[in-house]
Amino acid sequence: MNILPQLERLSKSLSLMPGIGERSALRMAIFLLQSDTTYTEELATAIKNIHEGIMFCEKCYTISDSPICPICFSESRDKSTVCVVSSYIDMLAIENTNEYNGVFHVLHGLISPLKGIGIDDIKIKELFTRIEKENFKEIIFALNHGLDSDTTISYIKKKIQALGKTNDIKITKIAYGLSLSSDIEHSDIRSLGKSIIDRTII
Ligand SMILES: [Zn+2]
Repeated sequence: MNILPQLERLSKSLSLMPGIGERSALRMAIFLLQSDTTYTEELATAIKNIHEGIMFCEKCYTISDSPICPICFSESRDKSTVCVVSSYIDMLAIENTNEYNGVFHVLHGLISPLKGIGIDDIKIKELFTRIEKENFKEIIFALNHGLDSDTTISYIKKKIQALGKTNDIKITKIAYGLSLSSDIEHSDIRSLGKSIIDRTII
């Protein structure tokens, strides 16, 4: 028996989402088929409007619904400490620990020669502009373990040296121990919070 075209179309789209395989996508599609229309219409509207009013924060480049995000706007945040993350979801994870009161810079990716991702593909030049303009005292790297993270950190460190800012800025990275065995997004809040507190100078 062939799959219903409506189900095939929907499950194909759902299977493109992170962590969703073809079987899960089909199960989700069947669930939606069996759901009442109030739910499916609300879901469809939420999906349709997802991009409405969404922009990058002009300072930290996080996803925001205002030109300056609430963190950059807040007067109670420590503007001399910047935490460099690769994604919005990692920023949320760190924010949820309540152990960090500085600001962020969201790169939206990492330098990856293997994947063909270079400095122009991520928000790295924007970070250097901030380093030149804003008086950061510390830059904390909170990137997942891996070659791309190492490449990105090493590139940024070299650039900080070239800008002559090495003496002014402490460069640290979050501690990776047994407690932070998974990546930032999937770490439990306490381990991630501790890894920020126990950050090390690099
Ligand atoms: Zn911001």
